[in-house]
Amino acid sequence: MAYSSPLTGEYLRAFERHATKNDPKRGGATVPCWEIVAYAADILDIAARKLGDSLDMCRLARSLGIDKIVFNSNAQMLKPGQYGIITINADNKTTIVLRDELEREEKRFTLAHEIWHYCLHVRSSGGGDYSIFSSAIIEQEAEIFAAALMYLLDQRTAQRAAHAA
Ligand SMILES: [Zn+2]
Repeated sequence: MAYSSPLTGEYLRAFERHATKNDPKRGGATVPCWEIVAYAADILDIAARKLGDSLDMCRLARSLGIDKIVFNSNAQMLKPGQYGIITINADNKTTIVLRDELEREEKRFTLAHEIWHYCLHVRSSGGGDYSIFSSAIIEQEAEIFAAALMYLLDQRTAQRAAHAA
């Protein structure tokens, strides 16, 4: 499966540096988890340069090119038990839907998880549009990525608060 990404500029270069590698021990079927963590660290550095002190998970998502983040309390778009989804419409606009009843930290984690799916959009054969593809391996990668991204972002925020005090 050849991945292609809707990311651009520095974000795309960071993706290519880390997330296009395969883990030989697992038959090349997955991105090594240390590369996923390194990628999370790199995009936070890039986003911090762009956004400064206003950096948070939502602004990071927007900075990566995600058009909309909506909180959906009516469960029509989400299957039972599903925390979030990512959709792309015909105009290539990307929306992440998060379940409204989630705790704040669960929302941030789910958003980070969906960001991984966004970064891995697979280019469809026709029309050059992007579509979402997932598998058990991608779900696992998304969890590693989300954990790393949230931890590193929180650490960055805590350090900034300590400096400001
Ligand atoms: Zn997922």
